[in-house]
Amino acid sequence: MSVWDDVVGQAAAVDVLRAATLSPEAMTHAWLITGPPGSGRSNAARAFAAALQCEAGGCGHCQACTTSLAGTHADVTVVATEKVTISIEEVRDLIGLAQRTPSQGRWRVIVLEDADRMVERTSNVLLKAIEEPPPRTVWLLCAPSPQDVVVTIRSRCRGVALRIPPVADVVALLVSRDGVDPEVADVAARAAQSHIGLARRLARDPQARERRARTLNLAATIRGVGDAVLAAGDLVEVATAESKAATEDRDAAEKAALLHTLGAEGGQTLPPSLRAQVRQLEDEQKRRATRAQRDVLDRSLTDLLSFYRDVLVVQLGADVALVNAAQEADVRRVAAEGRAEQTIRRMDAIGEARTRLAGNVAPLLAMEAMAVALRPQG
Ligand SMILES: [Zn+2]
Repeated sequence: MSVWDDVVGQAAAVDVLRAATLSPEAMTHAWLITGPPGSGRSNAARAFAAALQCEAGGCGHCQACTTSLAGTHADVTVVATEKVTISIEEVRDLIGLAQRTPSQGRWRVIVLEDADRMVERTSNVLLKAIEEPPPRTVWLLCAPSPQDVVVTIRSRCRGVALRIPPVADVVALLVSRDGVDPEVADVAARAAQSHIGLARRLARDPQARERRARTLNLAATIRGVGDAVLAAGDLVEVATAESKAATEDRDAAEKAALLHTLGAEGGQTLPPSLRAQVRQLEDEQKRRATRAQRDVLDRSLTDLLSFYRDVLVVQLGADVALVNAAQEADVRRVAAEGRAEQTIRRMDAIGEARTRLAGNVAPLLAMEAMAVALRPQG
């Protein structure tokens, strides 16, 4: 057993990271770990942090390994944001932390999971810190691709690229680590297109499977403009409900904690100076909810895209496995009803909707335009 066991399907990247933990001359103080969503960037970063702290290079069972992996090691700081951008203050705090020598571990490791979410000014502040780090400090930046961080930072970091893990590796992980039935694991890994987190959720959460099936069903049921508008509303509604379920409890707990800190439980009226703090928290929570809703919608669109990809596979007679094995009947029916050109146009419409969503177009508008383009034409 080792800390690298859960870094699935990434043999090349693991070789590089492992070599760095074993020989000082292969070590670098700033790393940029890149890979598509779900490829396991944060997993790889945590495993690397553990291997750096472990006396045995990442045995997987000592105190240093287990606490590093669990995120409780005193000298390993993991920053993951759900906000749209990481603030300059947050980065300044991290830089302060980076100056301190490790309290008990061998290194001070700072993992910045969303290094792509910094405005340029913030990146420049960070740049100065990673240019001349203290001898025992290691920065691990994660981003979807090298192009997502400013070139000055990119050029100071050693890059490690993760790939989309093969389906078989994801299945093996779900079976061995999560005890999922192999058949369920296989369907989930294919449906999630090897996105590890998604695959795990689909494999373990029947509701998540049902939501996904509902999204895919839309593709098969849109016949006219009326259906399309309804389907768009449905997509947005499901996304809102799901993101709300995910953020609600946390929002309430955060607010209660803040009121407690301010000494204002039990609904007394707050003095204006404190009200501003509560408002700030509420604004932040609202932004987080907006982002969660957009993330869920984007995932639904990826699901829809996979449906039409399957339709196209059937229309072209390509000899590859369907992503949505469970929806094979619908896939075949839609394939028989249209031509490949139309399928490609539909996929373009979904891609367009994703772009518009990322560009802050109102979700319902983006979904309606897309759904109308999905209906059978001519
Ligand atoms: Zn260990």
